[in-house]
Amino acid sequence: MSAEKTVSLESSYIKCEVSTEGSYKITDKVTGISWCSNPYIKRLGTATIKMKDKTLYFSLNKFEIHKTDRSIQMKYSPDKEEIMLTINVKLLDDEKTLEFSYEIEEELEVENIRLLEDGLWLTDAEDGYIIVPVREGLLIPSNSGRTFIHTFETFSYEGCHMEMLGIVKKKSAILITWHDPYVIAEVKSTLNSVAVQAKQILSLSLDLRKTAKAFRITFLGEGDYVAIARAYREIAKKKGWFMSWKQKIKEVPNAAKLIGASNFKLWSCLDRRLDYKMNEKSVTVNWTFEEVAKIAEHLKKDLKIEKALFIIGGWIHKGYDNQHPDILPAAPECGGNKALAEASKRVKNLGYLFCLHDNYQDIYRDSPSWSEDLIMKGPDGQLIKGGFWAGGQAWLICSKMGLELAKRPQNLPKVKELFNPNAYFNDTTFATGLYECYDPKHPLTKWNDMRWKQELCNYTISLFGVFGSECGREWAISCSHFFEGLAGVGGRYYHALNPESMGAHVIPLFEMVYRNCIAVYGKYEYDYSRAAEYVIHHIIIGRPLHYHTWNRGLYWEKESKDEPQGWPYDSSCFIRADNGWAEGLCMIDRFIKNTHEVLSPLHDITAETVITEHEYLTPD
Ligand SMILES: [Zn+2]
Repeated sequence: MSAEKTVSLESSYIKCEVSTEGSYKITDKVTGISWCSNPYIKRLGTATIKMKDKTLYFSLNKFEIHKTDRSIQMKYSPDKEEIMLTINVKLLDDEKTLEFSYEIEEELEVENIRLLEDGLWLTDAEDGYIIVPVREGLLIPSNSGRTFIHTFETFSYEGCHMEMLGIVKKKSAILITWHDPYVIAEVKSTLNSVAVQAKQILSLSLDLRKTAKAFRITFLGEGDYVAIARAYREIAKKKGWFMSWKQKIKEVPNAAKLIGASNFKLWSCLDRRLDYKMNEKSVTVNWTFEEVAKIAEHLKKDLKIEKALFIIGGWIHKGYDNQHPDILPAAPECGGNKALAEASKRVKNLGYLFCLHDNYQDIYRDSPSWSEDLIMKGPDGQLIKGGFWAGGQAWLICSKMGLELAKRPQNLPKVKELFNPNAYFNDTTFATGLYECYDPKHPLTKWNDMRWKQELCNYTISLFGVFGSECGREWAISCSHFFEGLAGVGGRYYHALNPESMGAHVIPLFEMVYRNCIAVYGKYEYDYSRAAEYVIHHIIIGRPLHYHTWNRGLYWEKESKDEPQGWPYDSSCFIRADNGWAEGLCMIDRFIKNTHEVLSPLHDITAETVITEHEYLTPD
């Protein structure tokens, strides 16, 4: 064993010291705070590599180091196995960013390289946190007393929705960025570890797979999550995904209608349910197309809602989430093509965006266009299953084929000709993670999947103008106008993710980076009578609400207009009129009126405002 040696790389902002055993210490010279490698095992990270039918695991703890003026090359040199793996640490031109990357001999297939392994850690005593761009943003403090490991895959459902993470330790801030969908971040918290004298250690790992070969760390000096977001905003602009309202409205003037618009969605005009054997269980008409128009007119005339994104689902031939991609003719039970064309005209006449809900990711075995050729294939050629929805078991259409289906004369071109909606919604496009497809006729990497999905968005925009999809991802900012689901899910902040389990809370990180680029809503139904916290969350982020909860038919004609009884200052407060502007309306309408009249003007005046500061007014 040769003795451990250390070399260092220094600029006026940082000093990076790396040892031949793979450990490192990077000091932010502005704040004097140091960031260190794995506290549990002395090494840089690990590599999992396939060699001649076997998978080998390497502990990256022995290097030959060569230093140049602005970089350090770390050549992996273990005692037994011979693999050519070099880690490069490079100081970038701003003098405060380090890029970590690797090179490996071409014949070797890398399964996973963990270059950042439990690195950049901080303790409970250091008063800090890690921020993660999942939906609006999550702040995970280092003193929660919770133990956990949570992975955030780039662009997956409730993973990293932007290609970044941030850490603050004793008011010293760093930004970690990458530009590849094959990066998986892991945040780990351990308690009472013997490795470091601390009650809690919070650390970060990054797994690089396939095309992911690098990440960057920028040392921002003194700062908080607002400083991290500001720094990332500049990187986002350079990546080309940043597109402001000004640019978008120039290209699609109707996009201006989204500023201050609430999201009203009648999910299932026609609701047809199948069981797991694809037998029909029920067919229900919730709203005819005539009723659709009347509801929009009611919102405009009786509630005086000026700005609305009015979406309907279940208008397609067999009802909501049934027999995609065979959408036409429009559901005969609801009035068919003629009635839908009439509804479209009437809703647009109100000055609203009239938006149709569609889907080019799911197909069903009873769809007339069903063909195994369209379906995504796994590595062994097996068909990839989607979720189980109203129309039964869905299968995933390869996104390359999805675009072709959307372009068929009987799909979007015909919808344009028949109904001419001025907005469109393709479900799941942004929500699901990026996929790989192994069908030799239409193979996909995650990059290809992103590209075909972006093409679908741009094609839809070319026909209808305003376009949106579910949840929202950074790669979709430049090819859509609204995200439905980023702000919340069914009255809560997240869907499956439980912030409590990490002692974490929500921060408006997304707003600090992309606020002036896109309309953002929550998704799914929620209980208006218990929605106070959800409403306040929307006031804090300055985003209009989504109204997805209705009763069948012309709901306001049947509903009671009585005020709720009992204590008025609880989670039901937004369904009360109390002599206010919602007096005499039914419960649903009272909630809509009370909240829209606050949130719509709020978004109107702040849609193009960039957040430059964020603070808590009370300690709790
Ligand atoms: Zn494919």
